Amino acid sequence: MRELNYTLLELQKEFRNTTCDFCSSYGKDNKSVNQIRSRVKVNDKYVGVNVVCEECKEKFENDELLKCARCGRLQTMLDIDSGCRCIRRKENIEEKELPNLPDGRENTFAFYEKQINGLKDELVTAEEALEIEREEVAKFQVKSKE
Ligand SMILES: [Zn+2]
Ligand SMILES: [Zn+2]
Repeated sequence: MRELNYTLLELQKEFRNTTCDFCSSYGKDNKSVNQIRSRVKVNDKYVGVNVVCEECKEKFENDELLKCARCGRLQTMLDIDSGCRCIRRKENIEEKELPNLPDGRENTFAFYEKQINGLKDELVTAEEALEIEREEVAKFQVKSKE
């Protein structure tokens, strides 16, 4: 399994009043209280943002939430129902390690520039991930009401 780091975070404003990604279909409608961000261990890439209710947060803390055997993502109702996102999106899960830090002063500027660009990329990636995630959940909820 690909190794991920999971971080439990405060719920952001835009996620207030959303329902838990891990248990809120099939009649359950639990309010989310936190979000969990998943990043790849070797290069810190964001691969998932999920919201959790109190109950599922406890499961998360006890390491009881299901994880994908392939990509390591926590499995939401949507993933369990229609296959993990790595499979739905035919994702390549081979991750490259970050390049070693350059040494020598002349590289410092280029190094920080890279870091800054990297951070911008990451922000964009995180925002995209959020959008995709919410979109999929919305579609799923519509689907399950039919
Ligand atoms: Zn839940
Ligand atoms: Zn997966």
